[in-house]
Amino acid sequence: MANAVKGVIAGAKGAPVRVETILVPDPGPGEALVRIQACGVCHTDLHYREGAITNDFPFLLGHEASGIVEKVGPNVTNVAPGDFVILAWRAPCGTCRSCLRGRPWYCFASRNAQQKMTRQDGTPLSAAIGIGAFAELTLVAAGQAVKVNPAARPEAAGLVGCGIMAGLGAALNTGGVSRGDSVAVIGCGGVGNAAIAGAKLAGAHTIIAVDVDDRKLEWAKQFGATHTINSRQTDAVQAIRDLTGGNGVNVAIEAVGKPETYRQAFYARDHAGTVVLVGVPSPEMKLELPLLEVFGRGGSLKASWYGDCLPTRDFPMFIDLYLQGRLDLERFVSETITLDKVEDAFHKMERGEVLRSVVVF
Ligand SMILES: [Zn+2]
Ligand SMILES: [Zn+2]
Repeated sequence: MANAVKGVIAGAKGAPVRVETILVPDPGPGEALVRIQACGVCHTDLHYREGAITNDFPFLLGHEASGIVEKVGPNVTNVAPGDFVILAWRAPCGTCRSCLRGRPWYCFASRNAQQKMTRQDGTPLSAAIGIGAFAELTLVAAGQAVKVNPAARPEAAGLVGCGIMAGLGAALNTGGVSRGDSVAVIGCGGVGNAAIAGAKLAGAHTIIAVDVDDRKLEWAKQFGATHTINSRQTDAVQAIRDLTGGNGVNVAIEAVGKPETYRQAFYARDHAGTVVLVGVPSPEMKLELPLLEVFGRGGSLKASWYGDCLPTRDFPMFIDLYLQGRLDLERFVSETITLDKVEDAFHKMERGEVLRSVVVF
């Protein structure tokens, strides 16, 4: 049986998104049907709408979501109807070459639902990052539904499913920030501020926030930045060195995804330090660096996919830290909106007015 519900569809490249009635199948083997309670509006949804990711229109957008498991198909053991879950776009397969090497956060065959959600006329929908959660119900692989403490507020919890996890994980998993480290975070939107919160959780001593927007730097202070630099007014690299005894930081996190900010991160780190790229570049971007500097500075240059997270390990932990008052997820929720306001939320995001707009159902 298919369930007719409302969902937000990007029908054509660049066209405004629309709420349509969609058909969501009942779960088959290994699948779970989830009643969505909240779903954040992420840059990636906008990138889908702009045709910047793939051309497989129409898309069912939305992927930073939490909800309640409604039904499960045969052979599902990790969740049951009534469970409160966060949806993950990484559900390790357990059998690919990376999973077999004990590195499931690099899984190359992450699972998704087998059945397609469709328009009423039967046209299959491409679900954003294999989720599609701007909808009252969505169908996922059961492994994508990660059970967490139901005491969490859905609008805060859902954000752990994408951008906030990426930022926390860039600091904690990829960057390996630890007690006493100095850290710089370049770009203080949702992901960058989550990296700041992650650095604080890890016990970093100096946390330097860099952005071109004073409003975002104010947010950064609230998440734990000890210093802020407006790089429109000040040379960020020099300012970071000045704040670290002339040396640069142990870990420099780039949360913008542009060559010029990557170079800032590269030059703002101390010798043998780490650069983490978590900002997502676009295909035409190129990076030029003196190779001798890459060699001579040692350390490591890393990229962070989804914060190198293992959802079943990390989601419940971050939700518990939030419930203990040690991770302020609520502060990322700038506003809650209804399903028909996603297009407006894209414009607010482009103007830098919000950390996250979150659709509540
Ligand atoms: Zn795998
Ligand atoms: Zn996202």
